[in-house]
Amino acid sequence: MEFLLNLRRRGITDAAVLRAMDEVPREKFVRPEDLDVAHLDHALPIACGQTISQPYVVAYMTERLGVAPHHHVLEVGTGSGYQAAVLSRLARRVVTVERYRTLADAALARFGALGYGTIEVVVGDGLAGVPEHAPYDRILVTAAAETIPRALVEQLVDGGIMVVPLGPHDGVQIIVRLTKRPDGLVRENLIPVRFVPLLPGRAREL
Ligand code: SAH
Repeated sequence: MEFLLNLRRRGITDAAVLRAMDEVPREKFVRPEDLDVAHLDHALPIACGQTISQPYVVAYMTERLGVAPHHHVLEVGTGSGYQAAVLSRLARRVVTVERYRTLADAALARFGALGYGTIEVVVGDGLAGVPEHAPYDRILVTAAAETIPRALVEQLVDGGIMVVPLGPHDGVQIIVRLTKRPDGLVRENLIPVRFVPLLPGRAREL
């Protein structure tokens, strides 16, 4: 309850997004030693030196993405799988791509255990998108890009929306919402954030 109240207090109003945040058990996506803090509004470490995002940022980006029940959604940066799980409560189909096989495998196991069967996990370089399942109505990038990833723009439908943290890897980034129009991209700058970097290529396994 406190979890949802905090999201509301911070300005999340979309009922479907709040319901999705309520439905997905964040404690199933954190390390065992973080179980007691899973409900707090903090980013937490996961394997491979990555992080599970702060719940507020997950809810905020999801709300700004404007997901409808018929949408086909791509997430870049599976990490723990938490954000993909939230998206799967809102969309028809979710594809999520991760450069670490270790993280992708763990996320897939969680989705199986939780019954989130509509999520497809791909191991690969998300900077190239996932062309075999394109186009997407919505694309959510959950690692910081230094420039707008062009391959992802190409994999959006006309009128599609991409939400992506944009900025230098060692500084503050800004969440940007891009809408693909026939005459170009419409860009809206949203809130400042800190994300782990979007890195090129598949990861060499640890
Ligand atoms: N959405 C995640 C948090 C992701 S942290 C969650 O809900 O837990 C960002 C993730 O992006 C990391 O797991 C990192 O390995 C991954 N990543 C970074 N660059 C990538 C790339 N080019 N392709 C795919 N995944 C990438």
